[in-house]
Amino acid sequence: MTVSTSPSLSTYLAHNWQGGHESLSQEYDYAIEDIDGDIPAGLHGTLFRNGPGLLDVNGTPLKHPFDGDGMICAIRFQQGKAHFRNRFVRTAGYLAEQAAGKILYRGVFGTPKPGGLLANAFDINFKNIANTHVIYWADKLLALWEADQPYRLDPSTLETLGLEDFSGLLKPGDPFSAHPRILPSDDGDRLVNFAIKPGLSSTVKIFEFDRSGEVVHQQQFAIPGFAFIHDFAVTPNYYIFFQNPVTLNPIPFLFGLKGAGECISFQPQNPTKVWLLPRGSGQPQQLATDACFVFHHANAYEAEGQVIVDSVCYDTFPTLESGVDFRNIDFDTVPPSTLWRFRIDPEAATVKKTPLITRPCEFPTLNPAQVGRDYRYVYLGTTDSSVGNAPLQAILKRNLQTDQEQLWSAAPQGFMGEPVFIPKPDATGEDQGWLVALVYDGDRNRSDVVILDAAQVDQGPIARLHLQHHIPYGLHGSFTPTVFNT
Ligand code: FE
Repeated sequence: MTVSTSPSLSTYLAHNWQGGHESLSQEYDYAIEDIDGDIPAGLHGTLFRNGPGLLDVNGTPLKHPFDGDGMICAIRFQQGKAHFRNRFVRTAGYLAEQAAGKILYRGVFGTPKPGGLLANAFDINFKNIANTHVIYWADKLLALWEADQPYRLDPSTLETLGLEDFSGLLKPGDPFSAHPRILPSDDGDRLVNFAIKPGLSSTVKIFEFDRSGEVVHQQQFAIPGFAFIHDFAVTPNYYIFFQNPVTLNPIPFLFGLKGAGECISFQPQNPTKVWLLPRGSGQPQQLATDACFVFHHANAYEAEGQVIVDSVCYDTFPTLESGVDFRNIDFDTVPPSTLWRFRIDPEAATVKKTPLITRPCEFPTLNPAQVGRDYRYVYLGTTDSSVGNAPLQAILKRNLQTDQEQLWSAAPQGFMGEPVFIPKPDATGEDQGWLVALVYDGDRNRSDVVILDAAQVDQGPIARLHLQHHIPYGLHGSFTPTVFNT
């Protein structure tokens, strides 16, 4: 069934949405007992989720949520029951600022230190905030932030164990992207990740880890110019990178006037460069498509000599206007993000771009067995209304072969986080799994964990787990079928 929603420009109340941008300073550890519906008996494992937990430091508000210290949530599912725990990543910067009771570091996205220009000018020290993603791989739980090394945590207690260097692979301060992908293979799954050190010319490093955590392959190549690349895609034969058409003017940053992220400007007259790097060995091929800004790719695969990439695109780099508090943002001024399909023909050196989903959407996900392969279903967070821009309030499932859609909306009081796809243990079909997401309930100032049957998204949650508190809007998470008991 194709969903058609009636146009609406007021699907939520601003004060309800703003509540999800409040800090959660407390750390919890409890069995979740307030549940509507039933947790499926086959849902066994742990969902980890990362995101900014603090939107202020001792009462001083941050200028951008992306500057907030990383806080990990662990939701454990076992025999139809669930348990919740959250802990901050005790990064060096978090510990120093909490001890000092004030902001000590300039935020990448514009949060200044107190003390005005004198305090901020020529201070280029960043705080690793470990707030973007969390993965469990080869017995290591890792909190990721793309500009620095990951922090390793105890998967049972979420205690911070320290910086991870993968046996010397990363040197102090080395970047490590927050968007690794697990490429399934008959020869053994690989965790594939990249790292970019931006500069006048940017070096892209690629690492592949096997299931034991050994680095089994490395490649690198140079990209001319400044590169702001948050995510990538991988297929059995290619790594794919989209180099957004942006420039960085470091002067306002150096003089303490702006955060580094605020010095990025979109160049609509320039194309988005598409880099195709043969996996294994070979030279990168540079292609181009119309200017757009991409944070996230849904998936990529190879078909009949072409490489297909599905990506969430913005018409321009989404920045805050100067002086605007992000809590009061007018969504009509934010460029909507929509899903596009790019067909890359390496022989002809062409990229053809077609729209897949034209309503605002973000946080694409899929069945992990289909990463790098042709796939039928993509799931995303989306707006309640199909027109206009607004916060994410719904989950959309799209059948990419038939264009049929299913939608479940938590509007008006609910605000949707990233859905994570968890395959059913006995799954034989691509959509046989569950979608689990955190939904902030602005009416109650609490968050819910919602579990949907991925085959029947439009039926709504089969279980809704009410937490005892709210969780600030977060970023990315992942599931492991391992249960960690303490
Ligand atoms: Fe991301």
